[in-house]
Order: sequence, then structure tokens, then C-alpha cells
Amino acid sequence: MDADVIVVGAGLAGLAACHELVTAGRRVALIDQENAGNLGGQAFWSFGGLFLVDSPEQRRLGVRDSLDLAWRDWQGSAGWDRLEGPGAEDEWAVRWGRAYVEFAAGEKRSWLRQLGVKLTPMVGWAERGGGAAFGHGNSVPRFHVAWGTGTGVSEPFADRARDAAKQNRLTFHHRHRVDQLLVEGGRVIGVSGAVLAPDDAPRGAPTNRTVIGDFTLKASAVILATGGIGGNHELVRRYWPERLGAPPREMITGVPAYVDGRMLDIAAEAGARLVNRDRMWHYVEGVRNWAPIWPRHAIRILPGPSPLWFDALGRRLPHPALPGYDTMATLKHLRTTPDLAAHDHSWFIVTETMLAKEFGLSGSEQNADITNRNLLGVLRSRLGKGAPKEVAAFRDKGADFVVADDLETLVAKMNDLTDQPLLDPALIRRQIEDRDAQMDNPYAKDVQVQGIHNSRRYKGDRWARASAPHKVLDPQAGPLIGVKLHVLTRKSLGGLQTDLSSRVLTPDGDVLEGLYAAGEAAGFGGGGLHGYNALEGTFLGGCIFSGRAAGRALSGRN
Ligand SMILES: Cc1cc2nc3c(=O)[nH]c(=O)nc-3n(C[C@H](O)[C@H](O)[C@H](O)COP(=O)(O)OP(=O)(O)OC[C@H]3O[C@@H](n4cnc5c(N)ncnc54)[C@H](O)[C@@H]3O)c2cc1C
Repeated sequence: MDADVIVVGAGLAGLAACHELVTAGRRVALIDQENAGNLGGQAFWSFGGLFLVDSPEQRRLGVRDSLDLAWRDWQGSAGWDRLEGPGAEDEWAVRWGRAYVEFAAGEKRSWLRQLGVKLTPMVGWAERGGGAAFGHGNSVPRFHVAWGTGTGVSEPFADRARDAAKQNRLTFHHRHRVDQLLVEGGRVIGVSGAVLAPDDAPRGAPTNRTVIGDFTLKASAVILATGGIGGNHELVRRYWPERLGAPPREMITGVPAYVDGRMLDIAAEAGARLVNRDRMWHYVEGVRNWAPIWPRHAIRILPGPSPLWFDALGRRLPHPALPGYDTMATLKHLRTTPDLAAHDHSWFIVTETMLAKEFGLSGSEQNADITNRNLLGVLRSRLGKGAPKEVAAFRDKGADFVVADDLETLVAKMNDLTDQPLLDPALIRRQIEDRDAQMDNPYAKDVQVQGIHNSRRYKGDRWARASAPHKVLDPQAGPLIGVKLHVLTRKSLGGLQTDLSSRVLTPDGDVLEGLYAAGEAAGFGGGGLHGYNALEGTFLGGCIFSGRAAGRALSGRN
């Protein structure tokens, strides 16, 4: 035996498993195809949003939340519908969903705090849903931002792994790519694969795949924490569901290239069951990064409630395809409306006032103030005047941004960003004037305008996320900004089916002895704890919860 347990994947899920194993005195081999500089995987790059229920941060902002409300929201969002018959794909997903919401309403916050994860006082209101009391969406704000963004979540776990390595309780195997699971007598007994040539590319940048040797490692159990498929557009297209129409011809990428999904089929060859592969979580507000780190590097705009959203032909998107409401419904609208399917993009039109207050950018490097724990910087950039510097940089340098003082010039510039001039300035003007006519009262018939007023009743939004209601054509709020939006690939909601101990199951529903899975590779637990939709901030916690479960199971602690 080379170790008690082999963990494949040094992202957050793998690191959470390592923490439990090392704490319980197990010897761990941690394998990753990337170099040491990539420890923490995607979580390092993340915004650090954490789904918590009934937290002190929520209460301070006047939010009343409960396990009951969160579970209603979760079920409405998940829409699990593969529950019938033997071996139903959602059988374990539902149980994981319930356990996870209990975790988020229970010990998640205190457990993370004890490990050194701190929170900002900000609680965002993501995915407000489709407008029904039961259905997709967060009834209340639940998106808690970690102090340090993603690094504030991943580094406490990475530090523990580094310390364990110094004490010879954990061995890193960087630049080792697992190509096969070793199975003997129906039990997974180890892994084999390729040793890749050293590469000192900076974190997140693609590294070489030159093979300089091979390796075999054996242990009494293997945990797969190898992430999803978001960096592999070929797999995204292969499993793209019919209900979302055809995938766009051009997509941009919200994850590093190592999120390649290769391990999933390797696990299936060894006897593991993959479920819900057609469930994915891609964003519709992607913009090309003007300073890319990985191939086709895309950044997601986290919009406040006010941007006007138009399709490629210049029509305002209908409710619930509104900024921050319902990611999947918006994607579906854009991909299944017959005259839109040929186009890959949509548009935001905003005022400078909206951009300054309402545009957030997802990612640790796009929020240097919080990532570097610079309190003064946070106060200045979030509560002060003007756009945060990263947002201003996109406005000034981003290939998808155009700025003009008047609407007709703006639309002409937007038309310059597409092969054909698809936008009619008169049509856009009429819709904006209609919308602006709704702004004279503190109530309105326009659903998006109603949403702005609703948003402003929540302190957190009023202070930091929702600009004071104003007319788009008010020159005081200008200049006007047009943003070309692309589909950005990010998360896999399905994956390896696991039981509540993170043990991988076979197509017959039996336990595949010796094999465990956690994080995105396991659809964050059970092969799909989110069902069809996420409430946001649920992924990091899903990695931690499922990684912890695997580590605890292998330490005899659950
Ligand atoms: C920009 C950005 C913002 C985000 N913001 C948030 C947020 O605010 N809140 C939230 O909840 N989530 C967020 N997420 C999502 C979240 O970060 C990820 O879903 C999560 O970190 C995935 O972790 P993981 O451990 O499952 O996989 P990963 O982090 O992808 O790690 C998998 C590791 O496995 C390795 N690997 C894969 N295959 C092999 C192989 N065959 N052999 C060896 N090694 C292999 C990879 O190299 C990689 O290091 C964000 C993600 C991004 C990119």
C-alpha cells in the first residue's frame, strides 16, 4: 500500500476530504494533473459565495430565513423528476439535497469558521426565481461572501494539506494524471496514469500534457474529486439537453482547462454509474476577459436588478428572463425561441449609474479588495461613488463593452460588434421609453421595475447592489453602456452517483467497493443534489460537504 487513501483532485472537494482523513490519522496520497501552484482548483478563482440559511449576517440585514423556507426553495428549484422505479437517477440526489440544506442551516457556518473561513457582512440575493411562491428561486438573500473571496475558502484547506505534507501525513503527487482505476475482485484498489512533464505555468494557465513516465499507486480506497466538465466544450455539447435547444456555436469558458471531465468516463469504465449528465449550470451573462488567464477565459457579470436585457434582435427579454432571476429560464428562452437560436449572444443596456452600483464580476481576481482583505478598499469601492476598478477596466477595455452619450450612437456601436446590424435603434428606443415611463411612481406594471422597488426594500441591495430607480435615458445617469453577453460554461450538476457516505454506486445500485466521489465530479453529492437549478453559492459548500462525508466515512466517523 502506498497510502491508506488516494485522493484524486486537489480542488476544494479533495482538500476537504484530505482534512478529515489526516485529522483521523490516515496516510493520504493527493494526486493532481496540475502543478503545486494550482492547489485549491476552481475554488481559488471563485467569488467565495456561500449558501447559508438563517445566519447572523442575514438577521443583521433584517432577513428572516429558516430551514423550512430554504428546503421549500431548494425543492422548487431542484424539480427532481427522476424518482420512479429501481435505480432512479434522483434517488440519492434528493437525500443529498435535504442533508445539504440541513448542513447550510446548521453547522456549516460554525464549522467553517472554526477552520478559519470568515464572512463579510454582505449577503447577496441571487436567483430570485420565476415569480411563483413555489418554484425556482431564493425567497430571501442567502449568498454570503467569504472574506478573501474564493481564496478565503480554499486556502484554509490548502494550508492544512501543506502542513500535513510537512509532517509526512500527506504526499503530494503533482503533475500526475490518473488514466485508469485499478480494479481487483470488484474492488477499486488504486490508480495508474501518466507522469506529466514539469510546468511552471502560473495558476490557472494551461499546462503541457507531455508524458514523461507512468505511475501506479495502491491504497485501500480512492476518492475521486476531479471536478466537472465546464472546461471541455466537446463534453458540454455532447450532454447538452434537448430542453435547452441547440448549444450555441460559440461559447466562452468560465473555468480553467483542467476542468476537463475526463475522469468521469474513466470511472464509468471501472464500473461506476453516472447520472443526470444532461443537467448543467451555465451562465448567460458571460463577457470575454480582456486579460485572459485560461483559454477563452470568460467572466460572469453578477447583475443587480436594473440592467435592460435584450435578445440578439433587440427585443427586451420577458419575465423571468431578468437579470439575477432565473439563469436556466433565460438560457432556455435564448436557445429555444425559434428566431433566436441562430444567434449566440444577447445584450445588456445600462447607464453608468447602474454599471457602477450593480455590476459585480464573479471571481477572486475580479474583486481584489475583498480577496486581499482590504477593508478600506471594500468600503471605498462598494459604497463609494463610481464603478469598482475591475468593472471600470471591463467597461474601458473589454471587447464586449461599448459606451456612448446617446442611444442611437450606442446602438450603432453595438451593431458594429456583430456580423450583421441586427439591432433597430427605433425599436430599442421605444422599449426603453416604455420602461422609463414606468419610473415616475414607486409602483409600476413592468415586472422588472416592480423588482427594482422590491430589491430596494432589502437593506443589503439598497446599500450595495441596487441603484436608485432612474430613467435609462436620463443624461444625468449616463453615459449609456451596451454589453454583448455570451453563454459561459461553468458547472456540471450531474455526475457520479454516490450514497450519503460518498461511496460510488454501480448501475445496479450496489456500492463499488473502494471508490468514493466528492464535489463537482459527484454532482456535488449523490449525482445531482441541485436537480435542475442552483440557488447559488451552493457549489463550494457542496464540495466541502461531500468531501467531508467521504473523508469521514473512510475514517470510520459516519
Ligand atoms: C470564477 C468562478 C467563480 C465561482 N464562484 C463560486 C461561488 O461564488 N460560490 C460557489 O459555491 N461556487 C463558485 N464557483 C464554483 C466552484 O468554485 C466549483 O464548483 C468548485 O470549486 C469545484 O471544486 P472541485 O473540487 O469539485 O473541482 P475542481 O476545483 O475542478 O478540482 C478538480 C481537480 O482535479 C484535477 N483532475 C481532474 N482530472 C484529473 C485526473 N484525471 N488526474 C489527476 N487530476 C485530475 C484537476 O486538475 C483539478 O485540480 C465558481 C467557479 C469559478 C471558476
